[in-house]
Amino acid sequence: MRTLYRASRVHTLAHPATGEWVLVDGRHVERVGVGDPPSADRVVELPGATILPGFVDAHVHLTGTGIHQQAPEVGRARSVPELLEALRGVLARRTGPTLVHGWDESAWDLREPPTRAELDALTDRPLAAVRADGHLSLANSPALVLSGALALPGVERDPAGEPTGVVRGEANVALQRWFTVNLSRHDLGALQLSAAALAASHGVTCVHEMSMIDQRGMGELEVLLAQRERLPVDVVPYPVTTDVGRAIELGLPRVGGDLPVDGSIGARTAWLREPYRDAGHRGTAFLAGEELATFLRDGHLAGLQVGVHAIGDAALAAVIEAWEAVYRALDSRGRRHFRARRHRIEHAEMLDPDLLERAAMLGLALSVQPSFDAAWGGPGGLYEQALGAERAGAMNPFRSILTRGMEMGAGSDSPIVTIDPMAAIAAFEGHHEPSERLLREEAVRAHTIGGARLAHQEGKKGALEPGAHADLVAYPADPLDPGVSLEGLRPLLTVSLGREVHVS
Ligand SMILES: [Zn+2]
Repeated sequence: MRTLYRASRVHTLAHPATGEWVLVDGRHVERVGVGDPPSADRVVELPGATILPGFVDAHVHLTGTGIHQQAPEVGRARSVPELLEALRGVLARRTGPTLVHGWDESAWDLREPPTRAELDALTDRPLAAVRADGHLSLANSPALVLSGALALPGVERDPAGEPTGVVRGEANVALQRWFTVNLSRHDLGALQLSAAALAASHGVTCVHEMSMIDQRGMGELEVLLAQRERLPVDVVPYPVTTDVGRAIELGLPRVGGDLPVDGSIGARTAWLREPYRDAGHRGTAFLAGEELATFLRDGHLAGLQVGVHAIGDAALAAVIEAWEAVYRALDSRGRRHFRARRHRIEHAEMLDPDLLERAAMLGLALSVQPSFDAAWGGPGGLYEQALGAERAGAMNPFRSILTRGMEMGAGSDSPIVTIDPMAAIAAFEGHHEPSERLLREEAVRAHTIGGARLAHQEGKKGALEPGAHADLVAYPADPLDPGVSLEGLRPLLTVSLGREVHVS
């Protein structure tokens, strides 16, 4: 079955750079051309539209995105009363344990979350509200007790020793795990499907799924693998575990992904070299020393691509140092293979010039989230509150990364920020630090071919060329034209692996 998609312009992000139509045969692009099109079984006319390769989101949590979508009003709350009101509404339409995601106090006038007493007053059922960045949650008393979080490190306590309802670190992991393992397979499948449909509606055709199997159990990934072919977007699963053998058993060529070496700036758990400006500590190392070194070495020697989550400068230094030790032990052929493996660092936000250079020498690949800067960078933003202007201003050095020739792919970390690639591209273009901004086309490339390369899928994804996957998206205006505003720009049509998965 050959389908011809005819638009005003096609950007291939390959050679030749532009065309007027794309001929698709089944799951693949047959060719892109100009002028009289070849015959096809079906013609889709898109007059005035611009076609691009489908977007690749290099860092997504599908189940979490589905949970966020169930109650987006939680993310819109701008004060404690608004958050409590949103929670009341969610509780009214649900039964049983209730987990919601997305509140963010960093833009509130009073940056204090609600108290445990306020949460307890809402319901006697277990209730947890995960902060936007996922690294901190609020829990009422039943949730703290039933999840087992109460007995673990990370439970915040008031001067009288009573839990405040805020949990971080291990307690936060246990809390979220308890809610997730209590979801049925059916619910997990439905959450993932709705998240994948949301991605497709924003022009995303492939997501790198960070399946938190150590933190949330195997259910999420098992359901995902079982329904992978049915999802409207292509999925590249990263099993988030230190268990290299488990990844091999699953038949996956990669391990780790979003594996936390540290936490987040928002939860003050990102692992820093110098203390937080507003907290007398340097954050938390979740994975370090011999344990980190062993994981990276074993993963590499098993032939896998290895990824880790590292945000703070101390976390990044620990990861890069550990990789340098693995690299030094290899011969020159082994070193070439090492660099070609594109081991990944997720987030890499506090990458200073020295760390950047050392990461570049190792051929490490960076999976970045430009919308983090849009949300939390800049004067008065969360990063400045936590780190001061100097450290905050040096974060997320996208232009420097590209200039150094490093592999860089873009993602959302959805549900942390919106899965909309237009928001990410605008964030690249409008970086709070002007010297680190990207041009429109560079930003689009980071979100297409850049992401494809992070999963070794160049030639298959990220560009429209003969033999590539038929992953494409048509917009009513040309997103590559810097004069076109990206705000609210939504696809007319999204095609993933030759399937029309979104039509507006
Ligand atoms: Zn992460």
